[in-house]
Amino acid sequence: MQNKLLDFVTKIPKSDLHVHLDGSVRINTIIELSKKQQSPLPSYTATGLEELVFKDNYKDLNEYLQVFGFTVPIMQTPENLERIAYEFAEDNINEGVCYVEVRFAPHLHINDKQNIDEVLLSVNRGLNRAKIEYNSKPEVKTKKIPEFNYGIIVCAMRYFDKGYSQYFDHFIDAHRQQPNLNEVAAKASFELVKESVRIRDKYNIPIVALDIAGAEAGNPPFYHQEAYNFAHKSFMHLTAHAGEAYGPESIFQAVTMLHAERIGHGFYLFSPDKITDPTIKDKNKYIENLVEYTAKKRITIEVCLTSNLQVISTLKALKNHPFAKMLEQHLSTVICTDNRTVSKTNVTKELMLAIQHFDLKKDALRNLIINSFKKSFYPGSYTQKLSYIKQISDYYDSISNNILFFS
Ligand SMILES: [Zn+2]
Repeated sequence: MQNKLLDFVTKIPKSDLHVHLDGSVRINTIIELSKKQQSPLPSYTATGLEELVFKDNYKDLNEYLQVFGFTVPIMQTPENLERIAYEFAEDNINEGVCYVEVRFAPHLHINDKQNIDEVLLSVNRGLNRAKIEYNSKPEVKTKKIPEFNYGIIVCAMRYFDKGYSQYFDHFIDAHRQQPNLNEVAAKASFELVKESVRIRDKYNIPIVALDIAGAEAGNPPFYHQEAYNFAHKSFMHLTAHAGEAYGPESIFQAVTMLHAERIGHGFYLFSPDKITDPTIKDKNKYIENLVEYTAKKRITIEVCLTSNLQVISTLKALKNHPFAKMLEQHLSTVICTDNRTVSKTNVTKELMLAIQHFDLKKDALRNLIINSFKKSFYPGSYTQKLSYIKQISDYYDSISNNILFFS
């Protein structure tokens, strides 16, 4: 049964709507490129790195984020970015992920050798090369199997400091009259979105959405309103990491002030004890209203099970994950990886965890999968999106129809 289920989940068409490029670099590529450019690593073997860097559990989100200090340094040239993006797409394709929205923070990769245009174009080149190769296969061309598509999500950093990148070093210097780092981050995110819209339109590349990422506690979403407004008016989609390392107020701000259509994690959506604002007297009512709003507006929660297990130390077992409540209350959810390398996972593994720990039946799994394509920020027209979803559903059903072991 276990093997059959795994075989089934491997075969069905899948998507990943929340995955960081810099958290999904192949370990061997990290080693090879670090050696080549003499970036220090604590170990130069895959097993060594898995022990010392890509651990099974982390103290908190900040410790988890430190791991990116080993991948970002090798993502500083157009060649490396293209290669990493290409390999990323290939890894997804190899496990049956046919739609992926990959996110990263372009500002972490700007230096005197590459500007933001080159950063985004290089990543796009890698993804597009993998897409063209895959989609030119006869079985894809004849629509026997679904084609591979992707979108790029640009992440603004909610926090940065000296040493994060050459770009941020200069940015901090240029704004040293501003003592509030949140205000400086807000300015950077506004810059990012303006440039991303320009690049999207100039080169016609699928930059589909804006996100805010990085240390959540102490860096609330509301600072980024101007950037989100600009993205909104430029018809860019909106998602935001919220409720991963801070309570429900972070999710509240993301949906009411940033107008996020999707929420990354939303782990603390049902946690009145995490509310810190003293003006909120009836915490349960606050949660109830927030959950209802999220449900009715079909705001989608990007659930990342393994990542949450690794980062949220109070979450000892998956059965205590709020995904159960999200399902019970009919929230719109999608299962995502967050970081393939840092979390040592892939979409197949995450779906297996969801099925096994939350007792997903055949129909529930189908809904979850199809919903992920519906809630994607698909870069084509709406008509194209609908026909893609139709193709995905038909393909899914052709695999699932004769399955008897999975009720
Ligand atoms: Zn994330």
